[in-house]
Amino acid sequence: MILVTGCAGFIGFHLARKAMERGNFVLGLDDMNNYYQTELKWQRLKMLEANKNFTFLYGGLDNVPTVLSAGGFTECFHLAAQAGVAYSFKDPELYFKSNVDGFYKVMHACQQSKTRFIYASSSSVYGSNPTPWHEEMTPKPLSFYGSTKYMQEIMAEGYHTMFGMKSIGLRFFTVYGPWGRPDMSMWIFADSILTGKPLRIVDAQRDFTPVQRVVDITWELANKDLHGVFNVGGENPIHLTELVNYMQSYLVKKGNIGHAKRKEWDLEKTCADMSKTYETIGIYPQINWREYVREFLDWFTISPREKGTPGLSGF
Ligand code: NAD
Repeated sequence: MILVTGCAGFIGFHLARKAMERGNFVLGLDDMNNYYQTELKWQRLKMLEANKNFTFLYGGLDNVPTVLSAGGFTECFHLAAQAGVAYSFKDPELYFKSNVDGFYKVMHACQQSKTRFIYASSSSVYGSNPTPWHEEMTPKPLSFYGSTKYMQEIMAEGYHTMFGMKSIGLRFFTVYGPWGRPDMSMWIFADSILTGKPLRIVDAQRDFTPVQRVVDITWELANKDLHGVFNVGGENPIHLTELVNYMQSYLVKKGNIGHAKRKEWDLEKTCADMSKTYETIGIYPQINWREYVREFLDWFTISPREKGTPGLSGF
């Protein structure tokens, strides 16, 4: 049995599906909080629950020690967290509760129950480091969200030193794809282009990473007896202007697009150095980002009535 925390979230949903495709039983936990539309989380959950190998536990991270103490779990994929850089300026305490206190409870429960611990860190730990970012760099986060992710890595390192507990920390880079997150740029761009809402883009490049790639790399790393942190990026930074132009041409629609100045924490460029990850699991080919953007837009624009799945008009 595999435990996936944050199973109704974007990446947790895809990872739980992958685990079941590989013949595993999954217990998914989520508190279904309203950081973004809960309807989207319930829709993802409905798809997971259609699989007889899936069981859902509605609740917070405080429940994990009890769950794991029952025994029978081989791995815990800990994806539940308060995500989003911008919102951590508004409510840092929320980030502390989920990402530091909640994380500790999950990690400690894994140590006690000898469950393999694989958790989502973030590229935002790198902050002001020059790109491309590699794992040996000292983290310099520029947001409290990034700080909490760095704290997670430090806590995991502490348990490794004290108890020899191995863990795998995954530094995800701007993940996108079907069933994605409404607070992230890819969704916001598509929504603005289609609805005509004004969109202000900054002069920046992002190492967008398709969720399929994230889940595949996560799965491969998790199946190795490792300890440490690993970049999971697309290795292919895209200029936001180029992305928006491509989205407009694919959607055959002109958005109300303007430009804005970057905020201090809004980095000019993010880019993963994937050499450590590739040395561990073998080389993953470079992605054709246009193909994945089209896939996202196809999902985004599907009418729920026509296809039975929610796209833009469903939320
Ligand atoms: P998400 O918000 O879609 O998923 C997180 C899920 O966890 C949500 O369904 C939420 O309800 C649940 N959750 C949050 N706090 C909880 C708590 N205390 N108890 C129980 N459930 C809780 O986010 P996501 O994009 O799927 O991100 C998954 C993980 O990957 C997070 O740890 C995030 O920080 C990290 N990450 C994501 C990205 C990205 O681009 N999406 C990039 C870097 C890191």
